[in-house]
Amino acid sequence: MGVFASRGPLVNRASQCYLLSMQDIELRQQLIAQARSLTTLGLTQGTSGNLSARVGDAMLITPSGVAYETLTPASLALMPLDGGGAFEGPLKPSSEWRFHLDILRARPDVRAVVHAHSTYATVLSILRRPIKAVHYMIAAFGGPEIACTDYAPFGTQELSELVVEGLGPRHGVLLGNHGMIATGATLEQAMHRAVELETLARQSYLAGLAGAPVILPDDEIMRCVERFKSYGPQAQEGEA
Ligand SMILES: [Zn+2]
Repeated sequence: MGVFASRGPLVNRASQCYLLSMQDIELRQQLIAQARSLTTLGLTQGTSGNLSARVGDAMLITPSGVAYETLTPASLALMPLDGGGAFEGPLKPSSEWRFHLDILRARPDVRAVVHAHSTYATVLSILRRPIKAVHYMIAAFGGPEIACTDYAPFGTQELSELVVEGLGPRHGVLLGNHGMIATGATLEQAMHRAVELETLARQSYLAGLAGAPVILPDDEIMRCVERFKSYGPQAQEGEA
């Protein structure tokens, strides 16, 4: 029967979840491949990052404290979006499941969430410095600024609420004294943005060290946002 068949109120959706679970093998493999690329791209060390992807009315999320090399499709946790943290899977989900869940609930356009403690994004989060429009590529995040939240302890509802508010309608946010989050309509897009967010953070930080960065005007960034949209959801933003 369905993967949620043992969870009472969810039993009436069991057939739908069963179909999804049969179809999500490829998504599970994609999620593992992207989790491994977090390390190879230098966005995270050890097991500090985590990823999730929407699947039907649930999310797949990487488990807590497990090296990405050892992940298998079966080791991911499947968590219903309308639940309070109940999950199916052999391992506990990432301790940051709350903000993954709350972002996917709040943003129907988001289908994947990447979280990492990448160095320059984290440095800016420690300085509580939002990323300004130092480069037009910030338009890939939907507007002229990537906000930085206040600090809240990892894994808490307080942090999750700060994250959802800080993200707003955009696709990236810095978490005070913690790290960053990037979102996308696909795992590939969320990962592409995670790399871009770290690049923008590095450029912003280094330009600030060297002098007084010129910040592009909001209306120019919004024109870029519109141009990126016309490249299509799978386009490599800013390259065409
Ligand atoms: Zn974290």
